[in-house]
Amino acid sequence: MGWSESGNAGLIWGDLTTFKQGSGMSTSVLYKDLGVRDYVHQSIRLQAGGVLIRMQHDGSHLVCPQCGGTNIIRRGTVPRSWSAPPIGTRPVTLLADVPRVECRDCRIQPVLPVPFADPRHSYTRGLERLVLSLRKSMTIQDVAGHLQVSQ
Ligand SMILES: [Zn+2]
Repeated sequence: MGWSESGNAGLIWGDLTTFKQGSGMSTSVLYKDLGVRDYVHQSIRLQAGGVLIRMQHDGSHLVCPQCGGTNIIRRGTVPRSWSAPPIGTRPVTLLADVPRVECRDCRIQPVLPVPFADPRHSYTRGLERLVLSLRKSMTIQDVAGHLQVSQ
């Protein structure tokens, strides 16, 4: 499967791959649309009709989520994924290795919260907003079918 078809998905894909990591332009229009901050683009590919977007933490905002302190050390990463608003009709999944840190003041080892999703949810705030907006005129079954996400 490729990106031979014309249309918005192809254009967005082109935009994304134009932005090279470290160029300072890694936050594309799409990422803004997805509500993604603190993470930069790594790769994008199609799998089973869906779009998989892999990101990595940009190294900023490494502060303790409990005390806000910076007396922390990195303790590896935890792989996570989130459902995001679709590109055209294709469901989008964001993937990232989220940093775990150790706070030397609090003595805790939290996984850093991501700015674009509630820590308890496996979908982005952007998808949450889209679902709430669609729910005004569609049933939850219609919304789930339209977005190709489970209810
Ligand atoms: Zn702390």
